[in-house]
This record gives sequence, C-alpha cells and structure tokens, in this order.
Amino acid sequence: MNSYDVAVIGSGPGGYVAAIRCAQLGMKTVLIEKYSTLGGTCLNVGCIPSKALLDSSHHYDDALKHFENHGIEITGDVKISLEKMIARKDTVVSQTTAGIDFLMKKNKIEVINGMGSFKDSTHILISKLDGTSEEIEAKSTIIATGSKPSSLPFITLDKERIITSTEALKLKEIPKHLVIIGGGVIGLELGQVYRRLGAEVSVIEYMDRIIPTMDKAQSKELAKTFKKQGVKFFLSHKVAGVTTNGDQVTVTAHDKKDKEVSITGDYCLVSVGRKPYTKGLKVENAGVKINERGQVEVNDQLQTNISNIYAIGDVIKGPMLAHKAEEEGVFVAEILSGQKPHIDYNLIPGVVYTWPEVASVGKTEEQLVESGISYKSGQFPMRALGRSRASGDTDGFVKILSDTNTDEVLGVHMVGARVADLIAEAVVAMEFKASAEDISRMSHAHPTYAEAIKEAALAATDNRPLHS
Ligand code: FAD
Ligand code: NAD
Repeated sequence: MNSYDVAVIGSGPGGYVAAIRCAQLGMKTVLIEKYSTLGGTCLNVGCIPSKALLDSSHHYDDALKHFENHGIEITGDVKISLEKMIARKDTVVSQTTAGIDFLMKKNKIEVINGMGSFKDSTHILISKLDGTSEEIEAKSTIIATGSKPSSLPFITLDKERIITSTEALKLKEIPKHLVIIGGGVIGLELGQVYRRLGAEVSVIEYMDRIIPTMDKAQSKELAKTFKKQGVKFFLSHKVAGVTTNGDQVTVTAHDKKDKEVSITGDYCLVSVGRKPYTKGLKVENAGVKINERGQVEVNDQLQTNISNIYAIGDVIKGPMLAHKAEEEGVFVAEILSGQKPHIDYNLIPGVVYTWPEVASVGKTEEQLVESGISYKSGQFPMRALGRSRASGDTDGFVKILSDTNTDEVLGVHMVGARVADLIAEAVVAMEFKASAEDISRMSHAHPTYAEAIKEAALAATDNRPLHS
C-alpha cells in the first residue's frame, strides 16, 4: 500500500492548488479525481467554459449591433455556428485541463483517477476508472469534493429540456425561448449568452431583484442594461411547477399577490444555487461531521472534527467561488506545514462576467446600514469617462463606501466594462486599509476605466469628483 503525507480528494481549483502548495512545501502528495480530466467544476463545466461562450457570443453581438457604429460594414450575413462555438469552448477546456496535468507532473504529485472514499481516518479506497481499486494511506487528507447544481423539490431535471448549467454549456441548438429559474450569477451569465445568440430569455427570480446578494445599485444597473438587451424579468415570483409537453416546457409561478403566471419556452435552465457534494465519499467511516446544509463542518483552521482531515472550497461554508477555494487550498497546505496563514473572507471579490461586468468587494450599502456603521458613499458614472466613450461602453458606475470617521474603504461596487479586472485595485487598497482619500491621490492612467475608481474615491472623500 502506498503511503502519503497528504491525500487531496477532488481536483477542482481548491484541490489541485492545495496539492501544488503541499508539494511545494515538501509533502508527498496524491490527488484523487473521480473523472478522467482534472480541474473540477471550474475548468470543465463552470468558470472556463462559461467565459469562453460569453466571449464568443459577445463577438457575435458586437458584429451584429456595434460594428456599424465604428464604421465597420458587414456586407453579407453574419452567421452563427453554435456547433463551432461549442467546439471552440471544448478546446479551451481541454487545453486548460491539460495545463493542470502538466502542473501535477511538474510538482511530482501523483494523480489517481477514481472515486475516493474513506475506509477510516487514515485510509482511502479508490475505485479507479480502469475498473481496478487501490487502497492508500495518508497522514492528512484534504476534502475538496466541490458542489453540484441544486434544484427545487418539485422539479425533475430531465437534462434535455429542463437543464442545469452543465447542459446549457453544450446545447445542440439555440433555444427559441429560454426560461431561467434564478436570477443569480449562472442565470444571468448563461442567459446573456443565449440572448445574444437570438433566444428570447425570461428570468424568474424569487427575490425582488437580480443578483440579490450584491449591492442594490448593481442589481438595478444590471437589470436596466439587461432589459435594454431584451431580457424579461419576473421578479418576486415563486416558482410552483415545471412541466414538459413534447419540446415545450412550461413554468408556473406566483407573484407577491399570488397571481399565477405561466411562461412557456423550449428550454428551462434551473439555476437556483449549488449544493455541497459528498456523495460516495463515505465520510462516516472516518467520523467526519456533515452539517444540516450538507457542508463538511470545519473550524477556523478549515479542520474537520477529525484532526487530520481538512476541507476546502464549495464543500464547506462560504461563497462558492474558484478563487475562494484556491485561497483555502493554499491555507490548509501552509497549516499542515506548520505556518500561520490567514484569509480575510471580507476581501474575496465577487464578479459576474456579463457585459457590462459586475464586481464587488467588502460590504454592500445594505450590510453597512444593517450593521449601523456610519459611512460615506461616492459614485462615478462610466459614461463620464473618455475611455468609455471611445469604446462605446458607457453603462455602469463605480461606487466606493468609506467610513465616515476614518475614511477607510469598506466596500467597492462596480458595473461596467472590464470591472472584473478593475476590482483587483479595490482588493489591494482594502488589504492595505486604504482610505478613499489615499485612492483619490494616486495617479490613474488616462484614458482608462480605472479613472472611475479615482473619481469615485474623490466623490467619497469630500464629494469633489473632477469630471462629473
Ligand atoms: P469543484 O471544482 O467542484 O471540484 C471538485 C472535484 O472533486 C470535482 O472534479 C469532482 O469530480 C471531484 N470529486 C468529488 N467527489 C469525489 C470523490 N469522492 N473522489 C474523487 N473525486 C471527487 N467561480 C468563480 O470564481 N468564477 C467564475 O467565473 C465561476 N463561474 C462558474 C460558472 C458555472 C457555470 C458554474 C457551475 C460555477 C462557476 N463558478 C465560478 C464556481 C466554481 O466553479 C466553484 O466555486 C469551484 O469550482 C469550486 O472549486 P472546488 O475545488 O471546491 O470544487
Ligand atoms: P446563485 O446563488 O448565484 O443564484 C441563485 C438565484 O436563484 C438567487 O438569486 C436566488 O434568489 C434564486 N432562487 C432561489 N430559489 C428560487 C426559486 N424557488 N425561484 C426563483 N428563484 C430562486 O446561484 P447560481 O446562479 O445557481 O450559481 C451557483 C454558484 O456558482 C454560486 O454560488 C456562484 O457563486 C457560483 N458561480 C459563480 C460565478 C462567478 O463567479 N462569476 C458564475 C457562475 C456560478
């Protein structure tokens, strides 16, 4: 039987990063993955393929609607090949997962492709993809088994007409009418892909606004631009049933006054969140506790109730984000090597990769109000920037919330072109406890979208933006 210092179960961004850091720190490491490709949800059916389709559909949309403004005339028809678009996405995915194979070899991490399950707290049984099985011994184990799409109790996901994000990333035809349950990140990103490709898109959301966990101003701005793009919203609607009839899917929902609406389309995407995944892991054999939400229970050190077993990423509490899982992977590896790492969960940014993009870090205005913290708010519209006018991307804003007494930045919320990348400036500023005035006194290159951050900081400091 092979013995290891660390066994990592699951090769998503949490697991493979944990394995690399463990190997860098000199631990003999094995990575166990039940599928034949590494990279988990993020690389195979999440972050990477969804961004590939967002980018491809954005090019198509630009060609149809925006090239003309720039003086570019297309004389023939602009045609779409969904088959080619999906094939390109598959190539991007396979190149990216192959990159993880390379990193495992480079760091001398042993990879075993098979389903891992606990025999006890130091032994793992692996049912390998080649049909054989293996038992290994590990001094420590990191559970990084991720998550799967969740659904509603009355919905049967047939994966043909009633689908999750996994199927929506490989459709064989452009829906005529895509009905989406859940106006969160997945619903909006994939909804925008198919809207751009010509589908009618209706989004049914239980809350009174889309992306309800982000700052209210962002929900409002994104909803406004989505409506301009032709997406229909049914907010404050509770879904009561989903039925299929041949190629048609009908979703029934009730509004706040209990009035029933029925929306019929040819596909229904269920994107109401994801649930932690521990099926087949047999944690009970090791004595590991799972909480009432199905998450592996961990303490501040990300250690389970069994001292040599840790858990990271989507399978534990906290936001289900690839970069959060990565930070936790590094964190646990460093704990195992005797270091004292730290993660500031308040500074994990959240991004929606629609266009305009949406990005946030720190506290939202609603959270500050709720916690009674006295704050100032400075906001600057993207349309006032020379850079935005040059590109034609004028939707959105940057909003900075800072402490009334100390001026420390407490939250930064943005909507606009490339804000997914701009949010890094806010994370750096907040990590170093910058005040809004600190940001306002730093030179920002002109013309850039980043100038909106400086201007919002000026607005938050003492309401003196220069360009609005
Ligand atoms: P996962 O990536 O889910 O990986 C877990 C791995 O464990 C899987 O490969 C699974 O096969 C394996 N596994 C499970 N059980 C076992 C077992 N018993 N034995 C062996 N292997 C096992 N996040 C972002 O930050 N940015 C984005 O843009 C983004 N876009 C997304 C788009 C979509 C459509 C979806 C669905 C998700 C997206 N996410 C995004 C979320 C992101 O994918 C997850 O937060 C991230 O993948 C979590 O990483 P993880 O390592 O915890 O788990
Ligand atoms: P989500 O939590 O972002 O959104 C789910 C939405 O469904 C919420 O707005 C919720 O109010 C709504 N909802 C819940 N029950 C409902 C019901 N019965 N009827 C109508 N609406 C209902 O979840 P998601 O979009 O499924 O994404 C899952 C996870 O994947 C998220 O945690 C997200 O962090 C991650 N993800 C991240 C990215 C990114 O970082 N860009 C992209 C995709 C997915």
